[in-house]
Amino acid sequence: MEFKDFNFKDELMQAINKAGFTEPSPIQKDAIPIVLSGKDIVAQAQTGTGKTAAFGLPILQNLRRDGSVEALVIVPTRELAMQVSDELFKFGKFLDIKTATVYGGTSYSRQIKHTENASIVIATPGRLLDLLKNEQITINPRFIVLDEADEMLDMGFLEDIKNIFKFMPKERQTLLFSATMPEPIKDLARKILIEPEFVTVTKKDMTNTNIVQSFYVVEEYERDDALMRLFDFKNPTKSIVFCKMKRDVDRLATYLVSQGYSAKALHGDLEQRQREEVIRAFKASTIEVLVATDVAARGLDVSDVSHVFNYQLPFDSEPYVHRIGRTGRGGKTGAAVSIVTPSEFRSLQKIQANIGAMMEAKVVPTIDDVKSKNHTGFMANIKNQVIDPAVCNIIDALKEEFDLSTIAYKLATILTEKDQVKGRNKIGKSHQDIATLIERLKNDRGGSGSRGRNRGPRNNDRRPSGDRDGRAPRRDGEGDNRAPRRDNDSRPPRNDSGASRPRREGENRPPRRDNDSRPPRPRGEGGGSRRG
Ligand code: ADP
Ligand code: MG
Repeated sequence: MEFKDFNFKDELMQAINKAGFTEPSPIQKDAIPIVLSGKDIVAQAQTGTGKTAAFGLPILQNLRRDGSVEALVIVPTRELAMQVSDELFKFGKFLDIKTATVYGGTSYSRQIKHTENASIVIATPGRLLDLLKNEQITINPRFIVLDEADEMLDMGFLEDIKNIFKFMPKERQTLLFSATMPEPIKDLARKILIEPEFVTVTKKDMTNTNIVQSFYVVEEYERDDALMRLFDFKNPTKSIVFCKMKRDVDRLATYLVSQGYSAKALHGDLEQRQREEVIRAFKASTIEVLVATDVAARGLDVSDVSHVFNYQLPFDSEPYVHRIGRTGRGGKTGAAVSIVTPSEFRSLQKIQANIGAMMEAKVVPTIDDVKSKNHTGFMANIKNQVIDPAVCNIIDALKEEFDLSTIAYKLATILTEKDQVKGRNKIGKSHQDIATLIERLKNDRGGSGSRGRNRGPRNNDRRPSGDRDGRAPRRDGEGDNRAPRRDNDSRPPRNDSGASRPRREGENRPPRRDNDSRPPRPRGEGGGSRRG
């Protein structure tokens, strides 16, 4: 099936072509005809599969352009409101369709004014309900979309949404789109939709198959080292690192910056303007690593995220699916990497089983692994390098003192020294250790059938952070999560109390991965296989 089979208006086809969409995605193939036919729909498809266009295109096709607000799209976050607005505006451009956004944290009057000229309003529930209650806007949309419905549920918007519908016309087409379909959402659908058609993807496809999923097992105190080693080894072009808590996000982002990575934090405590700035910088690739909480990164659509790292596992499989859905978008491939402690292992297995995914157990690369990978790229670079005539003088001068091969050795050393890999050589568990863990878990399970929701006695899943591993090195009172000194490590003990103890300038500063003379990260020099 092709887009032209939907008999879209020429102006709409033109915009679809311009967006570079060649073929409708599976959810689009299924949902578009239903929406075009005027029926209500409940559509479930994994993240990053093009749900926006699945409702956006048929709505645009059916707009009368009568000057009223004909469609209302309700989304969970401000960022998503902007994103969906941009996407619909892009598709409606040649039809001359205007969109407007309504969300909290910014001026009422401007938003109200914009809605007056728009055919489509994209809104977050809180502000929208505000405006409706105070009669600051009156709209009678024929199309109402609940986008990312499961996330709105998670964020506690269910009541707001029910209330919003009290202000909506009875004559309407209601569309509900969601990546997952928890019971309260089905319930909501039964209440506000009329004889909807259901379009669902199978469990097997719950996660995007373009995403390769793997995990590494480390002790609590090794998380930072493991993450950085994986950065060095995989050289992600753009990555999102997920933590459970805001304070972990802040601490980790600060630490990564101190280690020479170009990282920024994104979480709900930032002001709207700061959040927008961070997202813009990430999209524009001025920062390479976004350290985020689940909530802050909801629905974020950045097209070229190569890796998602779970610095800590989320509590459940749904947030896991949402997290990894930030990569592998729009048909691209992506990698989802989870760093888990032995005590998180049970949660990991639960997630695997729930989403029917295959995650490969891997061992954190050693310094030599990283080096030999870099060397391969380095050699390729030398082979491909075109000689700049200006360097001839340098070489000629050196030749008076050294022979050519000595010069070559020296040059290669200079260049590879830049790639010094920090940290301990061996980080985390071996394949053998992981096998033992799996074995132990199996035996464990045999003897404890009565445990609720996989929550073992030691598996204090709900504890925000800290040392959840019963076998981890003793805590020394100074708070959990702390590395027991790292011996023979060039880096100083981690200053991971970043949030509570200010870092003294100069103190605790590692020699730096290379001396500021280099651009933020060694990128592009490796050539070849950059993706891990
Ligand atoms: P979802 O809402 O399902 O998470 P989005 O609607 O945000 O996914 O789409 C994810 C990405 O895929 C977007 O960048 C979008 O432009 C792109 N996309 C959607 N449909 C297609 C298509 N048919 N062909 C190519 N890219 C697409
Ligand atoms: Mg979406």
